Amino acid sequence: MATANTQLDAPMYDPKAWRLTKKQADLTAKARKLGQEKFAERADKWDRDAIFPMENYKDLHKSKLLGICVPSGNGGIGADYMTYMLTAAEIGRYCGTTSLTWNMHVSSCLWTGDLADDLQMTASQRKTHNRRRAIHYKRIVKDGAIYAQPFSEGGAAAAGAAPFGTTATKTDGGWLINGKKIFASLAGSADYYGVLCTEKKQNLSRRDTMYVAVPSDAEGVTVVGDWDPLGMRGTVSRNLLFDNVFVSNDEQLMPKGIYFAAATSWPHMFLTLTPTYIGIAQAAYDFTVLYLRGEAPGTPPVKRRMYPTKQLAVANMHMMLEQTKSVWFQAIAEAGPNPSKEQVLRAYTAQYSVMENSNELCRMAIRTCGGQSMLKSLPLERLYRDSRCGALMLPWTAEICQDRLGREALYNRGEEDE
Ligand SMILES: Cc1cc2nc3c(=O)[nH]c(=O)nc-3n(C[C@H](O)[C@H](O)[C@H](O)COP(=O)(O)OP(=O)(O)OC[C@H]3O[C@@H](n4cnc5c(N)ncnc54)[C@H](O)[C@@H]3O)c2cc1C
Repeated sequence: MATANTQLDAPMYDPKAWRLTKKQADLTAKARKLGQEKFAERADKWDRDAIFPMENYKDLHKSKLLGICVPSGNGGIGADYMTYMLTAAEIGRYCGTTSLTWNMHVSSCLWTGDLADDLQMTASQRKTHNRRRAIHYKRIVKDGAIYAQPFSEGGAAAAGAAPFGTTATKTDGGWLINGKKIFASLAGSADYYGVLCTEKKQNLSRRDTMYVAVPSDAEGVTVVGDWDPLGMRGTVSRNLLFDNVFVSNDEQLMPKGIYFAAATSWPHMFLTLTPTYIGIAQAAYDFTVLYLRGEAPGTPPVKRRMYPTKQLAVANMHMMLEQTKSVWFQAIAEAGPNPSKEQVLRAYTAQYSVMENSNELCRMAIRTCGGQSMLKSLPLERLYRDSRCGALMLPWTAEICQDRLGREALYNRGEEDE
C-alpha cells in the first residue's frame, strides 16, 4: 500500500541535520507555512497576468516578515543574513516572484542594518546613520511600507564596472535625483525606490555612490515601458525615470561612501538573489517525486516511479540538488566582512551553481515527468520559465561569476603578467 511522501512537506534544510539556530528553524517554518497555505495557490495568478503580488505582501506584513531584517531594537525580527537567506529560500519554493521582490525589499534593511553594522564609520556618521535608518524601519514595521531596489541602468554600472549614471545633486535640505533605471522590480507597487546613484561632481566616481530612498509618489518620478517577459512576471520590473526629484537629506539609506565600502568588503551582499532560485530548484525536485508517485495535486493518480529510467533521472536530480544546496549553505554560513579568497571563490561558485542548476533541474523535471507535466495548470512550466531568469541578473550573472572565478583563481590581488 502506498504511503504519502511526507518528506515533501519537510523543511528544505532540516534544522537538526543542518544545525540551524532556533530562530532559523522558527522563521523557515513560518515561511513554509505561509508558502504552502497562501502563496503556492496564488502564484499562477501573478504569473498569468504579470501583476505584483500585493496580497502576499499584506500577509508578509501581518506575519512581521516584512521587517525580517529590521533590528529588534527598531521593532523588527532582527534576522541576520543567513537566517534571512534560509527563510527566503522557503518562500521561493512556493512563489518565485514573491521571494525575488521580497529580496529587493529586505536588502534595504539588511544593507542598512546587519551589514552596515560591520562597516567602519566615524562616530558622527554612525550616529546620523542610526537616526536615519530608524525612520525607514518605522515605515516598514508600522505602516507596511515596501522598498524596491532599482540599480540597473543598461550600462556597466550594475556590474560594478562604472559609476551609476543616475545622479544626486546637492540642493538646499536635500538632493535632486536625475536619471533612468531599467528592470525596476516592484515598479508602481513599492512605496520607496532605494536608488543607487552617484553624487554629481565634475567626474563621476564609484566611490561617490549614494543609496537614497525616493518616495514613489514624489514629483518627477515616472514608471514607463511595458512588462511582458518570459518569467518572473509578477515582479513587474518596468523602467523608472527621475526628473529633478527632490529628496530630503534623511532619505539617505547609507552615509556617502559607505555603499562603495560595502560592495568591496562585504561581497556576499550580492548573493541575495539566490534563495529564490534554490527554492525553485527544490520545488522542481519536489514536484517530480510527487508526480512520479502519482500524488501530484491536479493530476490523475498514475504511478510512473517503477521505470528504471525515471529512477535514474531522479537520482541525478537528487545529486544535483544536494550538491547545490550544500555549496550554497556553506557560502551563506561564511558571509561577512573581508572574506578570504577561498570564501569569495566559493560565493561565486554558489551563485553560479544555484542560478544554472535551478534551471537545469526544472528542465530535467519536465523531461522526466513528461508531456502532461508541462501544462499550464501545473506549476512546473512556470518554475521552468522563472528559473531561466536567475543567471541573467546582475551584478553576479553566471557569466560574470565564471569570468571572476577563473581570473581570481589564477591571479592573486594586484598580480599581473610581465
Ligand atoms: C526578473 C528580473 C528582475 C529584475 N529586477 C531588478 C531590480 O529590481 N533591480 C535592478 O537593479 N535590476 C533588476 N534586474 C536587472 C538585472 O539585474 C540585470 O541588470 C539585467 O538582467 C541586465 O540585463 P542586460 O541584458 O541589459 O545586461 P547587459 O548589461 O547588457 O549585460 C549582458 C550580459 O553581459 C555580461 N556583462 C555585463 N557587464 C559585464 C562586465 N562588466 N563584465 C563581464 N560581463 C559582463 C553579463 O553576463 C550580462 O548578463 C532584473 C532582471 C530580471 C530578469
